[in-house]
Order: sequence, then C-alpha cells, then structure tokens
Amino acid sequence: MPKRKKKEAEDIGFITTLSVPAVGSVGMTGSWRIFLPVIDGERCNKCLLCWIYCPEACISKDIRIDYDYCKGCGICAEECPRGAIAMVKEEKRS
Ligand code: SF4
Ligand code: SF4
Repeated sequence: MPKRKKKEAEDIGFITTLSVPAVGSVGMTGSWRIFLPVIDGERCNKCLLCWIYCPEACISKDIRIDYDYCKGCGICAEECPRGAIAMVKEEKRS
C-alpha cells in the first residue's frame, strides 16, 4: 500500500476497499453531468456514510462536495440514511 494511503487508512481507523480512494480518480467532471447532489445541512447528522461510499472521494469529512469531481452518480443520496441529499438538475443549483 502506498505511504499516503497507509497514513489515510491509519487516520480513518479502519480499512475497506472503499475507504481510501483517490479524489477524482477518473478526472475532473466535464459538462455532461445532469444531476448533482445537494446536502441539507439541517437533516445531516454527519454519519459519514456518503463520505465512505462516494466512489470519487469528492465528499470531505466535514461533508462538503467538490463539484469539480462529483459525477452525479447519486450513490451518496441513495446511501444517506437521513434523506439529507437531494439529486437536483444541474441548472437548478443555486
Ligand atoms: S450520509 Fe447523509 S446524514 Fe450521513 S453525513 Fe452524508 S449527508 Fe449527512
Ligand atoms: S453523486 Fe456520486 S460522485 Fe457525486 S458526491 Fe455523490 S457519490 Fe460522489
């Protein structure tokens, strides 16, 4: 395991195949994205499930989404136990 990933795994305290992906592992998102996730901070309880499951690792541990890399796959919204993530049409983002 590369040194950086080993350090991340130690910081996290557990290792899964999903826990230490590279941010934006398939590159920056182009203009093709149709839906994007928007987090409702009032509903979010910081459980970190979206952070764990995001395949692009573009959700930070303080639950902010890096839209430069988010592919709009919707996995985070699907996994959120609080229903705190809505997938909205790209042009409706405020
Ligand atoms: S999965 Fe939902 S409740 Fe958990 S941290 Fe993410 S947005 Fe918040
Ligand atoms: S929509 Fe997909 S890529 Fe974007 S933050 Fe959610 S899980 Fe990550």
